[in-house]
Amino acid sequence: MTQDYHFDTLAIHAGQEPDPTTGAIMTPIYQTSTYVQAAPAEHKGYEYSRTDNPTRAALENCVAVIEGGRYGLAFSSGMAAIDTVLRLFNPGDHILVGSDVYGGTYRLFERVYARYGLRFSWVDLSNVDAVRAAITPQTKLLWLETPTNPLMSIADIAALAELKAQQVLVGVDNTFASPAIQQPLLLGADIVMHSSTKYLGGHSDVVGGVLALNDDKLYADLKFLQNAVGAVPAPLDCFLVLRGIKTLHVRMERHSANALQIARFLDDHPAVQKVLYPGLESHPGYEIAKRQMRGFGGMISFILDSPEAAKRMVSRTKIFALAESLGGVESLIEHPYSMTHASTATSPIAVPPALVRLSVGIEHVDDLIDDLRQALS
Ligand SMILES: *Cc1c(COP(=O)(O)O)cnc(C)c1O
Repeated sequence: MTQDYHFDTLAIHAGQEPDPTTGAIMTPIYQTSTYVQAAPAEHKGYEYSRTDNPTRAALENCVAVIEGGRYGLAFSSGMAAIDTVLRLFNPGDHILVGSDVYGGTYRLFERVYARYGLRFSWVDLSNVDAVRAAITPQTKLLWLETPTNPLMSIADIAALAELKAQQVLVGVDNTFASPAIQQPLLLGADIVMHSSTKYLGGHSDVVGGVLALNDDKLYADLKFLQNAVGAVPAPLDCFLVLRGIKTLHVRMERHSANALQIARFLDDHPAVQKVLYPGLESHPGYEIAKRQMRGFGGMISFILDSPEAAKRMVSRTKIFALAESLGGVESLIEHPYSMTHASTATSPIAVPPALVRLSVGIEHVDDLIDDLRQALS
């Protein structure tokens, strides 16, 4: 399907043709490990399901199109997708990383890849000059998130993508925004990554990861690694992510509308010290977010008076479930300092102990606000 259609149409159709043998409108779950060949090396494009699988191919094509890219690759988790990107590099290579990235990314970089000789520097992405100054002749990749997790900082993707001029690949973890509201490849990034566990899947029922990109050589290298390493998703999981993507644009609209109302409610609440949401005009990244995003997404963080107040609040909500993860239709609440970001205690990411993070779902916003009000009382 061409990229001339609107996002909403592509989200439903891209990469998916009716099944040629039956006309089934939904991509079948090709639950098979191998494919019969007519003669040695004479086959219909599929030999073995680690290498290629039709359900996965539909997902990969869909992801490429909705990110405005040419190629997609699917993995068994978001971490497996990031891991495969890092295998492009060699001992001695240097990687710049936004100082406020997902805790699991920090752990993979510092506790796994540092042992293999990759070197990491942690940079404040809001200062493009500082990022440029941190580039060395060995620097091969800039890895960033925007908005970040859980501090919700905004990086200017187009400004940072200009670093490509210095032969540095720019990779963006687009999990928090989703392509419905932000498309980093169109802003100049080389690689987009998602934990499809989150908004792409959207229903808290699957773990997965994807990459989207444009460059032929980079695609060939990553496709080689995907097959050589083998962290591929099962056909059923690909089906679930494909199904989730069909409603992505509708969900993101409601996630964003609900979150903006909730952010304003929290901003006015006397028990809340500070709200971190890029849709509030007081947010330092508001102007950049307005320029590079369509809507501000469903994630909100806010700071209460004390760590005790934060722990008390997250245990008192009735609709917001106390859980890690994000991006599902149901609202979640958590305490990053003791939950999702406990593994980053020694990292440059200073998660305030009184911080609370919300993944705002698509329930009725009045019910959500009432729930937060009673939990804060
Ligand atoms: C969850 C998440 C990941 C990791 O993805 P998994 O699917 O859990 O492996 C990476 N980046 C961000 C921003 C995430 O939220």
